[in-house]
Amino acid sequence: MSSATVRGVTRLAAFATALCAAVALVPGTADAVVSGTRAKALVERIASAGPRPAGSANERRAAGIVAARFRELGLQVTIQTFPLPGGGTSRNVVARTDGPTRAVIVAHMDGVREGPAANDNGSGVATMLEVAGMLRGRPGILFAALGAEERAETGSHLHLGSVRLLQALPRSVRPRIVFALSLDMVGVGTTLNVRGIEPRPNRSARRVLTRGRALGLRPAYLQDAGVSDHAEMSRGNLPAALVTWRWDSCWHERCDRAVRVSARKMGDVGRLTVASLRAALG
Ligand SMILES: [Zn+2]
Repeated sequence: MSSATVRGVTRLAAFATALCAAVALVPGTADAVVSGTRAKALVERIASAGPRPAGSANERRAAGIVAARFRELGLQVTIQTFPLPGGGTSRNVVARTDGPTRAVIVAHMDGVREGPAANDNGSGVATMLEVAGMLRGRPGILFAALGAEERAETGSHLHLGSVRLLQALPRSVRPRIVFALSLDMVGVGTTLNVRGIEPRPNRSARRVLTRGRALGLRPAYLQDAGVSDHAEMSRGNLPAALVTWRWDSCWHERCDRAVRVSARKMGDVGRLTVASLRAALG
């Protein structure tokens, strides 16, 4: 190759890089792909501060990271604060695309005090943000990073962030919500489970199971007694399911560190969530 050609190629490459950077900064422009690598970098950043129990400075810090990312994506952000039973305040970070809400995607951002809570649930938060990057231009979606999910920390029998979220979703609007999902612990484990409090998969769970099979992820349905935020949403008359990889031997332990969280597993759940949302919203 001549040096003129090399210069031309170099200039072209520089132009392409600048163009990509410009596109990335335009609010409302959807990201091209779900990136497990980018999700993992965010898990590392969230977990790097250490444990973030409900009401802690680290939970607030995580909320700030999420809010900044939503705003970068061109989404309007609402902060919902709520008191904790033992004193202090937690918060949800909520972003909505245009139009009436028809789908809800949540991931809790608090953790237990034993460890950095990378898989539980930095992984869900980072994956939810990848989905938001893909679908920010699609009307009718509410994304929420929730506080105070960990009942061992709050002392409540409820997942308090989802209780607060439901207060902002009047009962009159809930029937038009066709899809609701909690992403919780989506970066470690060998079995992809779709979970719900119902004995049989509800409409959201069925949607995810169908798309998951189409993507070759071999998801299996597993009923639960209400282990995450989907429980409050389902009891509040939303068709809510939980997506999770099982099992993580470091659950609620010091060893729940970012290094163990798989970019590929988060990427798979991100793509699955995008495909399920697209199918649900038509
Ligand atoms: Zn969790």
